[in-house]
Amino acid sequence: MLNRSVPSFFHGKATSGRSFCADCDAPMILSLLEQDKPGFDLRTFVCPMCAATESIVVRV
Ligand SMILES: [Zn+2]
Repeated sequence: MLNRSVPSFFHGKATSGRSFCADCDAPMILSLLEQDKPGFDLRTFVCPMCAATESIVVRV
């Protein structure tokens, strides 16, 4: 098993930005949260099962 520690801030806000791994359907963990354009966040998720990553832009 890989490191299963989940950032606590993941449990905070809306779950609308949450995504699931395209390969194994596991709930992905938010690993990086950056500022994108004003009013938008760039969120990078990582899959705890296969380590795939996905970046999405979320309106805040
Ligand atoms: Zn996966």
